[in-house]
Amino acid sequence: MDKTIKKIKLQDIGYGDFFEDNRNSTVDNNLTPARIIAEHKGLYILRNETSEFSAKITGKMMFTASSIEDYPAVGDWVLITIVDVGQVIIRELLPRKTVLIRKSAGKSDTQIIASNIDIAFIIQSPDRDYNLNRFERYLSLAESGNIKPVIVLNKTDLISASDIEIKLDELKTRFKNTDIYTTSTVTGKGIVDFKKNIKPGVTYCFIGSSGVGKSSIINMLISENLIKTGEISSYTNRGKHITTHRELFVLESGGLLIDNPGMREIGVVDSEAGIKNVFSEFHDLSKKCKFSNCTHMNEPNCAILEAINSGTLDKDKYDNYINLLKENEYNTLTKLEKREKDRKFGKFIKTAKKQIKKYKF
Ligand code: GDP
Ligand code: ZN
Repeated sequence: MDKTIKKIKLQDIGYGDFFEDNRNSTVDNNLTPARIIAEHKGLYILRNETSEFSAKITGKMMFTASSIEDYPAVGDWVLITIVDVGQVIIRELLPRKTVLIRKSAGKSDTQIIASNIDIAFIIQSPDRDYNLNRFERYLSLAESGNIKPVIVLNKTDLISASDIEIKLDELKTRFKNTDIYTTSTVTGKGIVDFKKNIKPGVTYCFIGSSGVGKSSIINMLISENLIKTGEISSYTNRGKHITTHRELFVLESGGLLIDNPGMREIGVVDSEAGIKNVFSEFHDLSKKCKFSNCTHMNEPNCAILEAINSGTLDKDKYDNYINLLKENEYNTLTKLEKREKDRKFGKFIKTAKKQIKKYKF
């Protein structure tokens, strides 16, 4: 079942002193480190020096887990024992150097999108919902997880050279200590410089709204023989064949990339509560609107619109506020849709099981 590939060093897939020090403090010397490159319904796909293989966590780990954060996530380093060929057990989760999390509305639980990402490319393009506030939000998200953010302004082919300069000036003024790259995947401008800063053994991710060009850039970083959509085929302990989607990729330059669906959803505002916090003055004022369901866009006697007109509230911040509210509404809708989909899938499974019983497959 194990897929033996070119032997590598653990450092090549992101291992380092931080993890080694923590590993040394564990009692059992027989445990060896491996990195999680995919997860599917409680089954993990791991990578070490010699191979890719599936593994499960111990029952003990499951029972002592007090929250979702105690379970391994993609990017994590874990300590394993190889019981037999095809039977690998995850014994311990090594402490995380960094973590990218997502808080969901109304839930105390946080969802771990990925661990041990060193650098997050925060990407926007001028034809999408480009704005500095959005950069700010993504930057704080990365920084709160200890991840270094780097700004990427993509699709520079769509704006004039002077507009690029204006945007760069704005960005440099607002985000003084952040590296900024400009790219165009259409003309290729800036791609060489961008590629140069991708270092072997360093773990990266891309964060940004849909349509800004994340996939396009990622495709340029992945070498031909490492087709990104490549599925991982594996067998479970019982010999059941499974396929999983790879979420950690080795780039042409030796850099490591984590990309998964959760990452794609990040940045859309996760909760109305989050918007209320950031825009408290808007939220407070909205209580004075005539209609309780006021959208603050065209209603009469809207306290927010009145404040905009009189200049007591900032128009740019207002625009951002409205955008985020809309985005949040959309996000909530898609969540409901997802739930509906899950419900239907559950039904499908039930029916399928009945059929199996009926026909005794
Ligand atoms: P993602 O949703 O962030 O992964 O974005 P995609 O990579 O799928 O790109 C969205 C659209 O933008 C596609 O139609 C791309 O061809 C286009 N696109 C990506 N990069 C550029 C660019 O640098 N310039 C222009 N003009 N279009 C781009
Ligand atoms: Zn209003």
